[in-house]
Amino acid sequence: MLIDLHAHSTASDGTDTPAELIERAAAAGLDVVAITDHDTTAGWTEAFETRDRLDRRLTVVPGTEFSCVHVDASGRRVNLHLLGYLFDPEHPALRAEREGQRAARLSRAATIVQRMVDDGVPITWEQVAEYAGGGPVGRPHIGRALTAAGVVADVNAAFAGPLSHTSPYYLGKPNTDVLRMIDLVRDAGGVSVFAHPLAHRRGPIVDDDAIAEMARHGLVGIEADHPDHDGPARAQARALAADLALVVTGSSDYHGTNKTRNELGVCTTAAEAYEALFDRPTARRPVS
Ligand code: AMP
Ligand code: FE
Ligand code: FE
Ligand code: ZN
Repeated sequence: MLIDLHAHSTASDGTDTPAELIERAAAAGLDVVAITDHDTTAGWTEAFETRDRLDRRLTVVPGTEFSCVHVDASGRRVNLHLLGYLFDPEHPALRAEREGQRAARLSRAATIVQRMVDDGVPITWEQVAEYAGGGPVGRPHIGRALTAAGVVADVNAAFAGPLSHTSPYYLGKPNTDVLRMIDLVRDAGGVSVFAHPLAHRRGPIVDDDAIAEMARHGLVGIEADHPDHDGPARAQARALAADLALVVTGSSDYHGTNKTRNELGVCTTAAEAYEALFDRPTARRPVS
C-alpha cells in the first residue's frame, strides 16, 4: 500500500490543478492520496470528480493544512502547520476560520509585495495575484514573480533570500492558535495531524512540551517521514509518537514544481497507521 497524506494543488501553492494532482497520484501508483491545500477546501470537489473518472483504484482523503501558532507559558510564539482530515467543510466555525486565514494571507502578501515594490523590486501585485489564481496567497506565489522578474534564480533561492523569515520584507500571518484549531477540527468531525513538526530549516520549531500539550488536547498524529525531516528528526518524531500515543504518518508535501525534491510518494504512511488514523467516526469518509 502506497499512502501519501499531504499534497498541494493550484487551490493553494501547488502547480498541478486538483485534477492533475489526482491523475499524477494514480500514475505514480499511489493507493491513497490526501489533498491538503493551505487554508482551503477549494480543491476537494475537482479531486473527487477526477477520482471518479479514473480507471484505476485510488482513495482520496480530503484535508486542509491550517496555518497555526503555538504560544507557550512565557509567551513565545512559534508558527506551525496542522493537517485536518475528513472534517465537515460546511461546519460554520471552521469555515469562518478558513475564510479569516485567507483574508489575512491576502493582506499580508500585499504588504510584502508593497515593501518590495517600494524598494524598487520589479514585480507587481497583479502578477502575484495571477499566480495565486484566487486561492490563498503564499510566499511561493511571490517567489514565482521574483523568479519571472529575474530577481532570483528560482523559488528556492527566493525562500533563502527575500522571502526568508529573517528578510526585511518578511511579515508573519496572524495564525490561529493551534489548540483552538485542534478543537475546531474535532468539532467539525475531523482528525488532526501535526505537519512536519521538526522541520527546523523552515524556521523556529516547538519543543516536546508543546507537542505533549497538543496531544493532551486531542491531536491524533504527527508526520515523522517528511522531506524536510532528516534522519534524527524522523527518529525523534517516532519516539515522541510512542510516548504520547500519537499515530505516525509520512507524506511528500508535494507542491508540483513550486518545490524541488518532493515527488508524490517520496515519503509514505504505513497501512496500519492509516487505519489507526481514520478508524473512528468522521464527518466524511475517504472517497474510494
Ligand atoms: P507562507 O505560507 O506564505 O508563509 O509560505 C510558506 C509555504 O511556502 C510553505 O507552506 C511551503 O509550502 C512553501 N515553501 C517553503 N519553503 C519553500 C521553498 N524553499 N520553495 C518553495 N516553497 C517553499
Ligand atoms: Fe505550501
Ligand atoms: Fe506545511
Ligand atoms: Zn504542505
